[in-house]
Amino acid sequence: MRKELDKQLCEKYPLLYRNRNAPMTETCMCWGFDCGEGWYNIIDTLSALLCSDFNRAKEGYENIKEYYENEGKWPWNNGKVITPEEVEERRLKMVKAEESVPTVVQVKEKFGTLRFYIDSGTEEQYNYIRFAEKLSARTCETCGAPGKIRGPGSYSYYTACDEHTTPQHVSH
Ligand SMILES: [Zn+2]
Repeated sequence: MRKELDKQLCEKYPLLYRNRNAPMTETCMCWGFDCGEGWYNIIDTLSALLCSDFNRAKEGYENIKEYYENEGKWPWNNGKVITPEEVEERRLKMVKAEESVPTVVQVKEKFGTLRFYIDSGTEEQYNYIRFAEKLSARTCETCGAPGKIRGPGSYSYYTACDEHTTPQHVSH
């Protein structure tokens, strides 16, 4: 995957890709996103889902903090006064949610499909990953258009649209 796209993902999801630049003795993530950019949208969407609890909690905290510091009350809820305890409660919720963001260990293509490895996760998070991996088997790794698994080519299987399929693998 192109450097700019790699960088984009790491900047958008710093927690998830916190090991992107760790040494290779510690993580395979040092190799970056080892697949074609046709899967960028799949990886981007998956990344957003894996961070969604945290992002929601973070937004909730930033929201209450801003109103607490500026007006001291909600602009709705009949102008209910915000207490420091409520602010702290939301901060703790955010800290807890942060722990639910897994660390990505490796992202690569294997036998034509996406492989996405995390250090640990919830059942829901593993389901998102399974879905993304399945979707990659129907998405051209080169351009992102609908595709299917082809091959084996000179190396292995690969997923491609008609245009990015080597002539010998075009189905008639
Ligand atoms: Zn294609």
